[in-house]
Amino acid sequence: MMKVAVIGGGISGLCTSYYLIKAGVQVELYEPHKPTRENDKEVPFGASYVNAGYLTPSHIIPLSSPSLFASGLKMMFQRKSPFYIKPRLSANLMKWGLNFAKYSNNKHVDYAIPEIAQINLYSKALFQEILSSNEIGDFQYRDRGLLMMYKTKEVGEEELEVSHRATEFGIKSEQLNHEALKKIEPNIHASVMGAVRYYSDVSTNPIEFMSKMWTYLMAHQNFSLVEHKVTAIDLNGTEVKLHTDSGEGHSYDKVAITTGAQANHLLKSAGDSILLEAGKGYAIQTSKSDHIKFPALLLESKVAVSPFEDRIRFSGTMELSGINHNINNLRVSAIAESAEQYYQGLSIADFKLQEARCGLRPLSPDGLPYIGASKDPRVVVNTGGAMMGWSIGPAAGKMTTAVLVEQKSEISLSPFALNRF
Ligand SMILES: Cc1cc2nc3c(=O)[nH]c(=O)nc-3n(C[C@H](O)[C@H](O)[C@H](O)COP(=O)(O)OP(=O)(O)OC[C@H]3O[C@@H](n4cnc5c(N)ncnc54)[C@H](O)[C@@H]3O)c2cc1C
Repeated sequence: MMKVAVIGGGISGLCTSYYLIKAGVQVELYEPHKPTRENDKEVPFGASYVNAGYLTPSHIIPLSSPSLFASGLKMMFQRKSPFYIKPRLSANLMKWGLNFAKYSNNKHVDYAIPEIAQINLYSKALFQEILSSNEIGDFQYRDRGLLMMYKTKEVGEEELEVSHRATEFGIKSEQLNHEALKKIEPNIHASVMGAVRYYSDVSTNPIEFMSKMWTYLMAHQNFSLVEHKVTAIDLNGTEVKLHTDSGEGHSYDKVAITTGAQANHLLKSAGDSILLEAGKGYAIQTSKSDHIKFPALLLESKVAVSPFEDRIRFSGTMELSGINHNINNLRVSAIAESAEQYYQGLSIADFKLQEARCGLRPLSPDGLPYIGASKDPRVVVNTGGAMMGWSIGPAAGKMTTAVLVEQKSEISLSPFALNRF
């Protein structure tokens, strides 16, 4: 039986493990920070726990696009803006930035849109398959769509244009003016002009899904957890050997790196590297209220609003400040202030801001994920999901499995190759 080590227990690692055990592979997953309690009400740190939980076929525009590049340039050094780059001397950041600028053009956007739409729609179908199989049990899968709410005509027109492009892929949407929006979301602020409602998008609860996936995997005889951090990958022998913070680890036929924004460190120890930066985002949670009914993205401030069964989550910001989990209170309060300006009577208590958590989005410079073999085919990478890393979790996991077991992937892997830059 083939033996594979999966390194990193976020959505990428859990979904890769899920499909590997289905393919009859023996899996050992390395993750030093597995949440200790099932159905944990506390939000752990890490992108796969703090995200907004949207499955986003509507997000067809890559991060590297002329409009995001232009607005990013205006905002990037403002300490309270939704996009921020911490000035620092880093050759990796410089190289990443140059490539980001290079790919922020319409030709690349035209190339990337069908790839992004395809992997998102494929992944949505896989989420549905996991739900209907009942293997991990029931989980929140609300397909009431997503409201892209705006306050200015210019932003509304920009989103409408995106929605027209999305119809090519069967992604349905509708523009709602203030009055129509108020009928379904009665507490919107008078200053909100309207919304584009995407019917394709689904809202899930990340903590619930992660917890149920962990329980399913832990009960499987082909799966075991090693609660250690991997420090290096050793390719010198016939087998792949891992070194961990507790000393030498075990040996495997193959290895999958699913450590999110931290993938490069291990990949370098295996003689390869990718262009990857961490895009930090924050999440604040309040208790459940009937004040907000629909999942929404507040377009001007880029804040995501996620009503779950038992709580409401506000998340946002894209902060390029390296690999760390430091909380910037100024940016956390900016998320709360923005949300309060879109909903009448919404007030987020200060103590909720103190409980804010953060996670690192793994960002490639062209806005497409990395899924494929490294220079040594025994080491396979699955990262770079950026703002859609949650949505594409099952697809990326299944595609990574196809590479590891040397079977044909159901969708093309070539746009996601590691050596494309
Ligand atoms: C605020 C916010 C909102 C978001 N909203 C959405 C959304 O609505 N929809 C969407 O699709 N995406 C969203 N995203 C993006 C999405 O959450 C991420 O792209 C995705 O979770 C990345 O998953 P991952 O498994 O690759 O990485 P992670 O979740 O970061 O997991 C990596 C894991 O690897 C472990 N690890 C790291 N190094 C090692 C090592 N050396 N050895 C062993 N283990 C290691 C870490 O402990 C961690 O658990 C959002 C992100 C943020 C921050």
